[in-house]
Amino acid sequence: MASIEFVKVTKSFDKHEVIPALDLRIEDGTFTVLVGPSGCGKTTLLRMIAGIDPQTSGSVHIDGKDVTRIAPGQRGVAMVFQNYAIYPTMSVRENIEFGLKNNKVGKQERTELVESISATVGLSDYLDRKPSTLSGGQRQRVALARAMVKKPSVFLMDEPLSNLDAKLRAQMRLELIELHKKLGTTFVYVTHDQVEAMSMADTIVLMNRGLIQQEAPPEAIYRRPNNLFAAQFIGVPPMNIGDLGVDGVKFGFRPECAVLSVEPGGERHYSVRGTIATREMLGSETLYQVRAGDHSFMVKCTEDRFIVDQPVCLGVAAANLYFFGADQNRIGED
Ligand code: ATP
Repeated sequence: MASIEFVKVTKSFDKHEVIPALDLRIEDGTFTVLVGPSGCGKTTLLRMIAGIDPQTSGSVHIDGKDVTRIAPGQRGVAMVFQNYAIYPTMSVRENIEFGLKNNKVGKQERTELVESISATVGLSDYLDRKPSTLSGGQRQRVALARAMVKKPSVFLMDEPLSNLDAKLRAQMRLELIELHKKLGTTFVYVTHDQVEAMSMADTIVLMNRGLIQQEAPPEAIYRRPNNLFAAQFIGVPPMNIGDLGVDGVKFGFRPECAVLSVEPGGERHYSVRGTIATREMLGSETLYQVRAGDHSFMVKCTEDRFIVDQPVCLGVAAANLYFFGADQNRIGED
């Protein structure tokens, strides 16, 4: 296990500065997810930890040691990519064993390791199969097992689930959470998908344009977003934002925290009148778009009792309102 630390790190490609200045500590044994829009620098961060792409200035530390001059293979990290590199002509067993042969591990130890690790990722019954006969999820597990045999102190994963269909992705998310619990190793996971980040992370590092916007447990980012970017990136559909028309201050509320009614709601609700513009039945919930003056708000209800064009009152309890200043930061106590 190992902690990771970035100290005053910058990264430029030619003259293009991708990471202007970054200080970040990833605690030992955590499942940390780096999340943010495409191009914000997540993969660049991961590659700096791995040593594939060195930082332009500053230092990266693993387990308290400055690794700037340490080669990628010597850092005790393993990386699992979106396009997992598994060899099609080798069996599952040979794929998993491959890294060990290079490391001159003896035959018996190799066999034991391959068997215990394939059991951990649920591949025991597939050891003699060729990758082409496996499902996408099973292939992804081979890639994980290949990284695991090296017993890294840090796992780096770059969108490892993005080639899988939605159902399998959901299943693999749970499996990765389990795997992290079993191994207790530091996981650093990159994704642009906030659902993946919310469901797996114990710490989310939310990035935009090379800058950390917020670093916190999922629930804390959801409940207490630092700024407008965090408020709108985390949560589906995103937080509704409206203009108060004073000094650039904006207000916000989550779609699931608003109440729709025919008449104005309780005393502790702020409410506006509007009409239902669209209605989307999602199964257990219904998503309404409510038009109110110049604004359009999304509201998620557990009841499906309004129709398009129906006049409604949209109410939000004071405790569920957020306010953001002209600098885009959230106003108020934590
Ligand atoms: P995505 O979710 O799309 O993978 P990301 O957040 O992982 O995005 P990075 O791959 O870290 O983003 O890229 C950050 C920025 O650095 C982008 O603007 C990208 O164009 C640039 N970049 C990355 N690698 C190189 C490179 N080798 N040469 C030049 N620019 C690069």
